Amino acid sequence: MARPLVADIDLDALRHNYALARALASGSRAVAVIKADAYGHGAVQCARALESLPAEQRPPAFGVACLEEAESLRQGGIATPIVLLEGIFDASELPRVEALGLWLTVHSEWQLRALLAYRPTSPIPVWLKIDSGMHRLGFSPEEAASVWQRLVSAPETVTDLHLMSHFASADAVDASYFDRQLKCMQALAAQLDAPLCLANSPATLAQPDSHGSWVRPGVMLYGSNPLEAPNGASQRLQPVMSLRSEIIAVRDLAAGEPVGYAGRWRAPHPSRIAVVACGYGDGYDRHAIDGTPVLVAGKRTSIAGKVSMDMLTVDISDIPEAEIGTEVVLWGRSRHGALLSVDEVARYCDTISYTLLTGVLPRVPRRYSRLD
Ligand SMILES: *Cc1c(COP(=O)(O)O)cnc(C)c1O
Repeated sequence: MARPLVADIDLDALRHNYALARALASGSRAVAVIKADAYGHGAVQCARALESLPAEQRPPAFGVACLEEAESLRQGGIATPIVLLEGIFDASELPRVEALGLWLTVHSEWQLRALLAYRPTSPIPVWLKIDSGMHRLGFSPEEAASVWQRLVSAPETVTDLHLMSHFASADAVDASYFDRQLKCMQALAAQLDAPLCLANSPATLAQPDSHGSWVRPGVMLYGSNPLEAPNGASQRLQPVMSLRSEIIAVRDLAAGEPVGYAGRWRAPHPSRIAVVACGYGDGYDRHAIDGTPVLVAGKRTSIAGKVSMDMLTVDISDIPEAEIGTEVVLWGRSRHGALLSVDEVARYCDTISYTLLTGVLPRVPRRYSRLD
């Protein structure tokens, strides 16, 4: 029998979450963001699952971080338009952008010049990125009108021009900085009479004023709630990935015996410890503290001892039915129906769901199916 660790990917849940994004932003079109291999879920498979929806429910575009990600989607047979969310990294990419039918973000002067110097056979759809406060990528709001004008003046190169910006704190309860960014972009869109694309997952879930012509949900498609304060919409998300393994050994320990490297955890009383086939060599976060939740036979228990490369250890003192071969869910849904959210696990690892999901390493086979 093979090593039992798998990442089960529930494509019905993905389609459900995308439909939820569309329903929340019903006046907008929704780019499905599938960068970073669809946040670790497998970009081609996720794109196929979304492309297989009925025409009116399908994503009108996918979003990726770079040309290489777009190429592998095209190689996988994905025909839907794809937005390069950071545009090109080098002018030499432009012929491939054109050949693959990609949409281009333009965030800086060198990209703009490279594009305007390029003569495509047919003009390229362009999303002009403005830095409304994230202070990472984009033209300043003061430059926006003149840059917009330069793009409008090149109809042989540029078509279907949009304005975009990215929120720094759409997930936060305190919306003051978010409001400043939103007002800035709404004013620019009105001034330029431009279609606008602002909302990431938290803004799609909780900030309807920001929805504009397009929204760009990412992590919510995979069932993670990015909001500091969950709301009714985020509670309707369904987890897409279930990271599942099994117990491969069991130890009975006397009170005071340590477990694992450096003996971080010590049995407070006579304890039963399960060894689980999953470690940081699979992408499970080594920062997981003692007490990080896991599901064993559908019951909550917790990590006991430092995570090793190929294994981790779990306290099963209160789960007498647990034995070698018993199911262990690191996050997601157990066969018994119980749920452990990746967001909760992330808090115990002092991180966010994004790093856990994108961090699941290639050693872990992805298994695509509905759950039985
Ligand atoms: C990743 C990304 C998104 C999606 O963000 P989520 O928080 O995962 O919804 C949206 N827009 C841009 C530009 C991105 O890079």
